[in-house]
Amino acid sequence: MITRYDSQLLQRAVAELSKLPGVGEKSALRLALHLLRQPENTAISLGQAIIDMRQNVIYCKRCHNISSSEICGICSDSSRDSERICVVETVRDVMAIESTGVYRGIYHVLGGLISPADGIGPQDIEIESLVQRVPRENIKEVILALNPTIEGDTTAFYISKRVKSPGLVITALARGMSVSAEIEYTDELTLGRSIEGRTLFEQ
Ligand SMILES: [Zn+2]
Repeated sequence: MITRYDSQLLQRAVAELSKLPGVGEKSALRLALHLLRQPENTAISLGQAIIDMRQNVIYCKRCHNISSSEICGICSDSSRDSERICVVETVRDVMAIESTGVYRGIYHVLGGLISPADGIGPQDIEIESLVQRVPRENIKEVILALNPTIEGDTTAFYISKRVKSPGLVITALARGMSVSAEIEYTDELTLGRSIEGRTLFEQ
């Protein structure tokens, strides 16, 4: 049920805020009224931060991670192992794996998973660029760090077929720990162990 507001402006702000994940109409109204009570600058700087982020955010040209420059800090860090590439679905997975502190290789962010039910095919995510990176960057190991869902498994299987070549090792995160857990919700210790304990990917 949509509440009618006396102010069209308030109604519009609530409608926009309630489009955010996890924000229902009640929370959206609370946030809107909170912003109205704050000094004008608070709301303006929030709005400007969102506009600036949306218009100016850069994705790394190599790994598609969110970056402040064309090539991200991880890709340009020469102390990292650039022959090991960890394939993840989202930028949040990069953050989760980085927070474990155990992985010193580089990444490739797919930006989604293959999902025929949702009409998402291999060409809709960053798979082709990964297939090109592996030989070009002389990658020795591809680590498939995808969530244990049908979409994750489908994507892992497809990628393994596409990148397969003599001398390339393809591994996947150890799953003994918590089969249903998504990477971003797995605690650092468990995630770290599943990276260290990764196993050969079975095709
Ligand atoms: Zn990068």
